[in-house]
This record gives sequence, C-alpha cells and structure tokens, in this order.
Amino acid sequence: MNPFEYIEPGSLEEAAALLAEDPSGTKPIAGGTDLLAEVKDGIERPRRLVSLAGLKELQGVRSQNGHTRLGAGLTLTQLCEDSRLQRDYPILVQAAYTIATPQVRNIGTLGGNLCQRPRCWYYRHPLFPCYKKGGSICYGATGHNRNLAILGGGASFMVHPSDMAPALIAADAQLEAFGPQGFRIMPLEEFFASPEDQPLQEHVLDKGEVVTSVLLPTPSQNTKSVYLKARDRVSEDFALASVAASVTLDGRTIIKANIILGGVAPTPYRAHLAEESIVGKEIGDLDLQQTANLAVHGARPLRYNEYKVSLTANLVRRALQGLLNL
Ligand SMILES: Cc1cc2nc3c(=O)[nH]c(=O)nc-3n(C[C@H](O)[C@H](O)[C@H](O)COP(=O)(O)OP(=O)(O)OC[C@H]3O[C@@H](n4cnc5c(N)ncnc54)[C@H](O)[C@@H]3O)c2cc1C
Repeated sequence: MNPFEYIEPGSLEEAAALLAEDPSGTKPIAGGTDLLAEVKDGIERPRRLVSLAGLKELQGVRSQNGHTRLGAGLTLTQLCEDSRLQRDYPILVQAAYTIATPQVRNIGTLGGNLCQRPRCWYYRHPLFPCYKKGGSICYGATGHNRNLAILGGGASFMVHPSDMAPALIAADAQLEAFGPQGFRIMPLEEFFASPEDQPLQEHVLDKGEVVTSVLLPTPSQNTKSVYLKARDRVSEDFALASVAASVTLDGRTIIKANIILGGVAPTPYRAHLAEESIVGKEIGDLDLQQTANLAVHGARPLRYNEYKVSLTANLVRRALQGLLNL
C-alpha cells in the first residue's frame, strides 16, 4: 500500500480547494469502505486523502425548501433507522438494507455509495489495465462476464454497483454538489456518466467537486414504490439485477411510472419502454409480462450473462404485480 497524506479539512470550501489543486492525486474519502480497499489493492494510489467525515454540511436528514434533504455523509444505517424516511420513502430504506453488511452500513455513506467505483473483477485486479483504469480494453467483453452488463455496454461492460442510485432515481431525487464554482443541483439521473463519456469516473463531478446532499420531493399520497434485488447471496452481495419501481395512481389509472434497473448497465438504467407501456392505462388492462419484456428490450447479453435478461424481466413483473396488487 502506498503511503499517503490524510487531511481533515475544517470546511467544505477547504475540502473543495484541496481537491481542486491536485485532482489526479487527491481523493475525497467518506467511510472508506470502498476507497480503502482500492488503495490496499493498488487500484488507487492517492498522494492525499481529504476526509469528508467531519463536515457538518454533509450530515443529517432535514427539510429544505419543500424537499427532504439527505446529507451525503449520512451513513446507510442512519438512513435505514430514520423514522421520516421509513414513513415517506420506504423504497430507500428497502434498498439500503440490501447493501453489504451491518458493519459496512454503519460506516459507508450515501455519497460514497453513489460515487463508488465498479466491482468488475478485471477492474478490481491490479494486473489488468482495463478501460476503466485508463487502458484501452474491456476484458469483460470476452472474459468472465457473468456479472456484467446486458444493456448499454460498449467501451466497458461494467455495471453500476450502487443500490441507492436506482431507488433514489425512482423517487425523483436531485443531487447537490459543491465545488470551487459553488453549489449546483441536477437530477440524480444526470449525475451518472457512461464509460464513453467518463472513462475514469462514473459521474459528472468536476475537479474539486463533492456530493453534498440528495434532495427528495414530497411524495404523493397516491404513489407506491418498491425495490427488488437479485443476488447470489442474501448478505454482503451486489445486485446481479435490481429494479426500483414507483407508480402513481389516479383511481385505478396509472398516471406516472418510474422503472429503474440496477446491476445490468454501466449507469442506472431507465426502462422507458416499460414505463410508457403502463402510463395512462387502467390497472385491469395491463399486460405485465409484455411490460417486463419491454424493460429489457434491446438487451445484448454476453457469453455468460444471458440469464440476466429473464431475471431482470421477472423482477420488473414481480415489482409491478406487488405494487398494483395483481
Ligand atoms: C463487503 C462489501 C459489500 C458491499 N455491498 C454493496 C452492495 O450490496 N450494494 C452497494 O450499493 N454497495 C455495496 N458496497 C459498496 C460501498 O462500500 C458502500 O455502498 C458504501 O456506501 C460506500 O460509502 P463510503 O462512505 O464507505 O465510500 P468511500 O469508500 O469513502 O468512497 C467511495 C468513493 O466515493 C468517493 N466519495 C465518497 N464520498 C464522496 C462525496 N461526498 N462526494 C464525491 N465523492 C465521494 C470516494 O473518493 C471514493 O472514490 C459494498 C462494500 C463492501 C466492502
């Protein structure tokens, strides 16, 4: 493991300035559950780590301008145990409970979850100079690709590993970032970047920027949502495929639907065709198998991951059946 300097800045401004002056060598660290494993394995070799853990702007759950604001420094355990989130955004609590183990959730943060790096074996192995580490090849395209992408692959077939990302996008979350230019807010869906657009990171943060919070709109009384995740082991495992589904009803008519897939594409994947197939329809007129098939329309499985196509479609069907009591 390379030696590195460790700094605890006194303010958000100081953290952003430290990160901006040396973007290639200085990394932010929150809980460290992902980053320190990368440093120990020689995947990341930072000269400096800037801790975000003590920054008060990143803490807590509170109301802000009609939104619920989740600080990026919120641990996943704090998120699971927050009574407001349990009541108003159960999909987030469901997703957080599927992550890792209690020990990781006690330390791992929301911001770190959204900014974590790929879990592909080739990326995580120090001897493979894969595309996501600055190389020119995605070894997963022809190698061990059981866990990799069936949708949206190209320069890389990594899958986005975050469980919180699909659930938050289904809840119409926005993301707030702070950097040398100040604060900016974007729809969370626009935060994630394709490997073609950003080979060396999975998001659109600029130099010196950090995630400060996630903002959630007030949920409508008529909206129901659920997070389902398929994995090899029930504990401490990433999604083979997941679905975050949210539907809003007017009587028995679906007036809005968010269907976001995890574990199947380099970014959280919105199943547009599946959403469009149910919006405006009466519950009794739905063909959920057709909707489930539309969710994976255009899938291009690799040699060892064809199973993900039916697995994902089945998750979508089960999620909608549960939400609509069908
Ligand atoms: C055994 C194990 C199992 C896991 N299982 C799952 C799982 O099932 N699902 C899942 O989603 N995740 C899983 N994880 C991944 C991850 O460790 C956790 O999700 C955790 O939330 C990461 O948060 P952290 O604060 O520890 O991040 P860190 O390790 O501190 O940081 C992760 C990355 O994000 C960057 N970063 C951190 N905070 C910010 C910020 N505010 N702004 C900008 N960049 C930031 C860091 O520079 C680093 O690149 C697992 C991890 C382990 C070790």
